[in-house]
Amino acid sequence: MPFHFRQFDYSQNVHRLIIFPLEIFIVFKSENALKIQADKYVQALMIYGSAMNLNRVRILKDSKERIGPTVYWMSRDQRVQDNWALLFSQELALKQKAPLTVVFCAISQFHGATVRQYDFMLRGLQELEKSLAEKNIPFYLLTGLPEEEIPKFVNKFMIGALITDFSPLLVKKQWNKTIADNIEITFYEVDAHNIVPCWIASSKQEYGAYTFRPKINRVLDEFLEDFPILKKHPIIWREDKGEIDWNKIRESRLLGDSISEVQWIKSGEKEAHRVLHDFIKNKLQVYYELRNDPTKDGQSNISPYLHFGQISAQRTALEVLENAENRSYKAFLEELIVRRELSDNFCFYNSNYDKFEGFPNWARKTLTAHAKDPREHVYSLEEFECAKTHDELWNAAQIEMMQRGKMHGYMRMYWAKKILEWTESPEKAIEIAIYLNDKYELDGRDPNGYVGIAWSIGGVHDRAWKERPVFGKIRYMSYNGCKSKFNVKEYIERVKMPIS
Ligand SMILES: Cc1cc2nc3c(=O)[nH]c(=O)nc-3n(C[C@H](O)[C@H](O)[C@H](O)COP(=O)(O)OP(=O)(O)OC[C@H]3O[C@@H](n4cnc5c(N)ncnc54)[C@H](O)[C@@H]3O)c2cc1C
Repeated sequence: MPFHFRQFDYSQNVHRLIIFPLEIFIVFKSENALKIQADKYVQALMIYGSAMNLNRVRILKDSKERIGPTVYWMSRDQRVQDNWALLFSQELALKQKAPLTVVFCAISQFHGATVRQYDFMLRGLQELEKSLAEKNIPFYLLTGLPEEEIPKFVNKFMIGALITDFSPLLVKKQWNKTIADNIEITFYEVDAHNIVPCWIASSKQEYGAYTFRPKINRVLDEFLEDFPILKKHPIIWREDKGEIDWNKIRESRLLGDSISEVQWIKSGEKEAHRVLHDFIKNKLQVYYELRNDPTKDGQSNISPYLHFGQISAQRTALEVLENAENRSYKAFLEELIVRRELSDNFCFYNSNYDKFEGFPNWARKTLTAHAKDPREHVYSLEEFECAKTHDELWNAAQIEMMQRGKMHGYMRMYWAKKILEWTESPEKAIEIAIYLNDKYELDGRDPNGYVGIAWSIGGVHDRAWKERPVFGKIRYMSYNGCKSKFNVKEYIERVKMPIS
């Protein structure tokens, strides 16, 4: 069907798209949507009768339509089920009567990722290859930098349209830009990670949860919908894609690294759903009471799956809502939706999300004013890394992260704040905290990590507190404060126990 004319009537919240001989009015329920460059949605709207909310889609490069296979360059959302980027790719391919393929680029050095994270990711991708094959969608595992490999792939197979999933991190933004500059086809970006697309939730950096929450809540009904089912793709990809030698790839990624894989948590989409169901059945009821006690197993443990996109936050929220019984579900959804999506908001709108310069003005001012305060202890990166501080509680948290690949959420705050207290400057503190977090946490290199560290060290999304040495007006946490909240000795003993 030829695309003839388009017109936007912003005043009436109506996006008017005329496709000869039909005239279609698409009503944007979300006012925010109109603030975003609405014309960027036009090509996406060409998919007449789309089963999804197209506000989840942006166009990174607008180009002439080319007939050819559709490619989803998968990056942050490594799953088959409940994946808006994959669903959108399929819609586009079906409209073009084209085959569909999924491509992933494995990079040898990714932001300090180690064996631990590669092992988790590659096992998940191996399962994903099989699930995609059941849907007639071949999976290519490329090795190398996406900015080089994706344009090569697009040219080699005369691809008609390219789709990717959304990440607010600088590295992905840079890859997208280089790829857009080096291809001649339309390039779409779909926010498959957030429930409310990051650019719709807010058009600016938010001050805190208190300003972000009402914005999210205003549009949540519109976006917290169930997913359409991914179809078995009817148009076959004819190219011979060869076999992926998973063992060889794993071996090449896993060499020369001293950080070991972890065994207590298994990777993959199926396992992610099992962990979610176990949480809902056995822990959700008491989440409110237990989540901040590191001696109890009161958190969901879902963050590694969310980080690698092996489970959708939207699916998680929908399932938790089906079991909404007491105040616990609200507390969980506050973390899963408001806090998590606020992290994406911060990283999307603040390119200094991992630096001192990204802290709010009041925090930089107060930290600078206290930069020369004498520190009772100053540790080097090596001393921190080897858990050789004077504080047995801090050391236990560091050991928990090193051994288990997941520090308890409450301890993460204490851990980062003490790094501020025991380093020569806040700049050094943020550098050390990010280095250790990204090296050992299974869920590291995530907007949640950068924001959690910036909250602890730099007052991001927090307010000014009573002034004190070194911290200035940044919120303080103490050993005695922890003692009043949970059994510190029990936590220290627990960390020493074998991991099950
Ligand atoms: C210094 C510091 C570093 C952190 N580093 C990371 C990190 O690298 N990766 C990461 O995913 N999270 C990080 N967090 C946030 C939080 O601690 C973890 O998301 C949480 O502990 C993960 O465990 P869970 O999935 O069992 O959490 P649950 O309590 O079961 O929460 C469910 C989900 O809600 C979200 N959530 C929970 N707490 C927060 C929070 N404070 N901010 C944003 N989202 C939240 C997460 O997606 C989490 O998976 C960090 C926090 C701090 C203070």
